[in-house]
Amino acid sequence: MHVTPSYDEIVRAPKALLHDHLDGGLRPATIVELAAEIGHELPATEPEALGRWFVEAADSGSLERYLETFAHTVAVMQTAPALRRVARECALDLAADGVVYAEVRYAPEQHLTAGLTLPQVVEAVLEGFAEGSAAAAERGTPIRIGTLLTAMRHAARSMEIAELSTAYRDAGVVGFDIAGAEAGYPPTRHLDAFEYLKRENFHFTIHAGEAFGLPSIWQALQWCGADRLGHGVRIVDDIDPHTRTLGRLAGYVRDKRIPLELCPSSNVQTGAATSIAEHPIGLLRDLRFRVTLNTDNRLMSGTSMSREMALLVDAFGWGWPELQWLTVNAMKSAFIPFDERLALINEVIKPAYAKLL
Ligand SMILES: [Zn+2]
Repeated sequence: MHVTPSYDEIVRAPKALLHDHLDGGLRPATIVELAAEIGHELPATEPEALGRWFVEAADSGSLERYLETFAHTVAVMQTAPALRRVARECALDLAADGVVYAEVRYAPEQHLTAGLTLPQVVEAVLEGFAEGSAAAAERGTPIRIGTLLTAMRHAARSMEIAELSTAYRDAGVVGFDIAGAEAGYPPTRHLDAFEYLKRENFHFTIHAGEAFGLPSIWQALQWCGADRLGHGVRIVDDIDPHTRTLGRLAGYVRDKRIPLELCPSSNVQTGAATSIAEHPIGLLRDLRFRVTLNTDNRLMSGTSMSREMALLVDAFGWGWPELQWLTVNAMKSAFIPFDERLALINEVIKPAYAKLL
């Protein structure tokens, strides 16, 4: 029997999220308040209108307008109290949406303009996640959050950020990431950072195969040694659409169970996919790639994990088996230790879906 999950049921079902940007998920009302405190000018000062502005700017197809959205969020995240608040609210919002495990990423180097040091940035965010997680547990919606520290592709601080990541590995930082424009900034520019992380037995993911195609994915995996692919959606360019035959790179990604951090709504906004219905996630699921579902930037996409799931239920007729599969895939691919992943799968996720299936 096929049961169509309702939106409310999806919210209550446990979910796992691996790709969510801290500076892409602020509450509009918080941006308004923090901007007023520091005298930062916003395109709208009423929270609802501001929220709409973010989605419209990200929808516009203009890279300039898309980047402008982050200029506003990053501008209000330059002090320890502001970072702590944004992180606390992030934990609360994800937990209220039924997310039980999340890896949230941000680039510490973008939060130094008011004089914070890199360690002060990391500590403020970790404190905010701890406060938010504690409050969420009290509300009966426990969440575990792991932090990923991001280095920017176009900058030259990746080694410093890699060292920062391992310095805080026992305090909640579980991985490292490289983000920013793919074209012209290959991940191989940061090889020393990746080699350092491998020597330290640390985990990392790389934004690759979003706007840019297969060479970017190939470099991330075969030169840099990424554990996961941030997006990786263009791997479909190595799959014959008619015969579904895999090329060598797509075959490698599937054989090695390389997790794909797919973000459907974000991909549609940036043009990496034409629509949700035509998003490659359907094909990649059919071919049993290690597919995970993610939000990327909840504010800019006006989305949540539940909304992303609901969109797939509508577009592909997916039911609980597929939603559980996505959730277990994400947990299997998380950067926390194996025994802790297994505990979440066996004690939280599977029992909850067993009641829904
Ligand atoms: Zn991203």
